[in-house]
Amino acid sequence: TLPSPLLTVEDLHVSYGRVEAVQGVSLSVGAGQIVSVIGANGAGKSTLLGAIMGALPSRGRVEYAGRTLAHTPLESRVAAGMTLVPERRELFSSMTVEDNLRLGAYTRRREGAGDLGSVFTRFPRLQERRKQLAGTLSGGEQQMLAIGRALMARPKLLLLDEPSLGLAPLIVREILRIVAELRDAGVTVLLVEQNARAALAISDFGYVLEGGQVRLSGPAADLAHDPAVVASYLGAG
Ligand code: ATP
Repeated sequence: TLPSPLLTVEDLHVSYGRVEAVQGVSLSVGAGQIVSVIGANGAGKSTLLGAIMGALPSRGRVEYAGRTLAHTPLESRVAAGMTLVPERRELFSSMTVEDNLRLGAYTRRREGAGDLGSVFTRFPRLQERRKQLAGTLSGGEQQMLAIGRALMARPKLLLLDEPSLGLAPLIVREILRIVAELRDAGVTVLLVEQNARAALAISDFGYVLEGGQVRLSGPAADLAHDPAVVASYLGAG
């Protein structure tokens, strides 16, 4: 029983000048699922997310919650429940944890009380550090803050760009455990990762992106045992 898709991408193309970074990608993210896109450096993962968010011009079809997004600007996509946690986290480093979180809510149309509280419940470490400047947080804490800030926008679809980047294995596990909890709480997640092993472990479905194209796709558990995936992405370790 497949969940109905919250996001469908069909034949998406994105170019930087003459370089086509995304070359006809199609994928689907079922409501309530974690779907991962794994691939090496330069495979086109960040570009794909940027195009889905409407931050980069693209050709092809993006359908979200039953609506085709053609010329829908980024702000409207955020208002409709799509939120991107960018690879570089893009925190305001000289502002406090709490103020960074409050900024995450500014695009939200309906002001919902208790959001800070629910983020702090999910990330007790952010609560302990609420008055600390974001730039002085550890890498793992900064990633938590970036995700927490995204949650302040009350996303239906969370787009995560390499949340494991630069983090120690234990912290990666903690972050991805929280991502799985968010899915269990009803948030749909599109997760982009170089860390294929960690990503597939929490995902329902996965896509392998190479050179801007989908090379393989399948249930995450199957991909994790696929000889080609094991050889290229799950080597030792
Ligand atoms: P990484 O994990 O290293 O960010 P990625 O899979 O996210 O890799 P992208 O960042 O999407 O890959 O890059 C895909 C291709 O597009 C690469 O060849 C990259 O050099 C190129 N590219 C990305 N951004 C730009 C840009 N602003 N201008 C020109 N080329 C770009």
